[in-house]
Amino acid sequence: MFLDPYTFALVSGCLACALGIVLGRGATRRQVARRCASLFAERADASAKVAPMELEAAAAAATRLRRLQGEVRDHETVRRAAEARARRLERVLDSLDHATVAIDRFGEMKLVSGGADPLLGVARDTAIGRKAAESLRNPALVEALQSAIDAATGPDAAAVNRRLELELGPDAALRPYEVRLATLREERGDGVLAVASARDLTAERELARLKDEFVSQASHELRTPLASLRAYLEMISDGEAATEEERAEFLRIATEETERLSRLLDNMLNISRIESGLRHVERTEVDLKATVRRAVEALDAQARERSIMVAVRTAAVDCTVDGDADLLLEVVQNLLSNAIKYTPEGGRVTVHVDTDPLTRSVVASVTDTGLGIPPDAMPRLFDKFYRVENFRRLAKGTGLGLNLCKSIVENLHGGQIGVESTVGRGSRFWFSVPVANVGRKAA
Ligand code: ADP
Repeated sequence: MFLDPYTFALVSGCLACALGIVLGRGATRRQVARRCASLFAERADASAKVAPMELEAAAAAATRLRRLQGEVRDHETVRRAAEARARRLERVLDSLDHATVAIDRFGEMKLVSGGADPLLGVARDTAIGRKAAESLRNPALVEALQSAIDAATGPDAAAVNRRLELELGPDAALRPYEVRLATLREERGDGVLAVASARDLTAERELARLKDEFVSQASHELRTPLASLRAYLEMISDGEAATEEERAEFLRIATEETERLSRLLDNMLNISRIESGLRHVERTEVDLKATVRRAVEALDAQARERSIMVAVRTAAVDCTVDGDADLLLEVVQNLLSNAIKYTPEGGRVTVHVDTDPLTRSVVASVTDTGLGIPPDAMPRLFDKFYRVENFRRLAKGTGLGLNLCKSIVENLHGGQIGVESTVGRGSRFWFSVPVANVGRKAA
């Protein structure tokens, strides 16, 4: 243990005094006490002589130490800020859909973003520092990165920035990717990085395919009523209708085709507005029991014409939902109109409205005693333009009604739509929409 001069003088003086007092007697005790006092004074004096120099040095050292401590703290703050910035950038990179990887001039992996998993043949946390050829699944991507490094470090070195399309991912599930390839020079030294940022094009391609399919189906469906309309109008203008009745019949068909055309266009527009998010939803509290009654009234003439009995059964509970009154009416009307169309004359259609406490929703269903739907048609029933082949001659339609219902129920109201059916016995189409407010009193 080392003591500073002051403490040493103090401790030794005190020790000597204490020894003198404890051990000495009479004169001896006084002698010892005097000796102690002089020793104490000597020591204190000696310490006083040494102290100024050593204190100055110690103070300077303490100042240096404090400055150093300050610098260390500053460095630590800068290091922490840099680490936080790097972590933030890493998280931003991980949150992007893009898969980003980078290699250095030695072909070693220097960066792997969170979205890059499908491109890796090894676990992401083991990829950094490995050779690209060992870490990346697809040799095409390794080659592209390596060629970028070569171009940026060769004799005519030039920065690379280009776009290419590659099939990437596991061999059994290759997907089309758009890859942006760029080289970056490190700020210090002659280091170069080749960065590949890949975007999965699968969803985009599928959307483009669906659009193409929609356009070709739509033009095909529009062409049919247009051709028929044109033919009947030509027959009328060419005087081919022999009698007044025949002329009236041709005109009736032409009018019907015009209506079909306008229904088709309305449905197409409605569906595309809903799908593109352009359809504004007027949300209010909608009583589905009232909606059903309105739909039955609107289709009363159609049902009578085919001698179809339409019954309405509603539960004695509140069936109010949050939704767009017009759109929900459109759904019920579509389902009801189909039930009437695809049920032989004299059949029966029943509309039910009730709540489902389990899913906290209101369920409306339309049950008919009609043709029923063949099992192979069921999976495609809600697709655009799909019509059951054998029923085409039985009733006119657009093949868009059920698709529109699905969009309205599922996309705009967060509900569900479905069907159960037995060929020859009939079908039950249903949809559910979450209740407006739990705990309402019974209606
Ligand atoms: P459409 O205008 O042709 O009726 P939808 O999209 O409403 O178009 O219906 C698609 C197809 O589903 C119909 O063409 C028909 O084949 C079948 N379908 C719909 N509702 C019924 C039903 N209640 N009974 C039997 N088949 C039905």
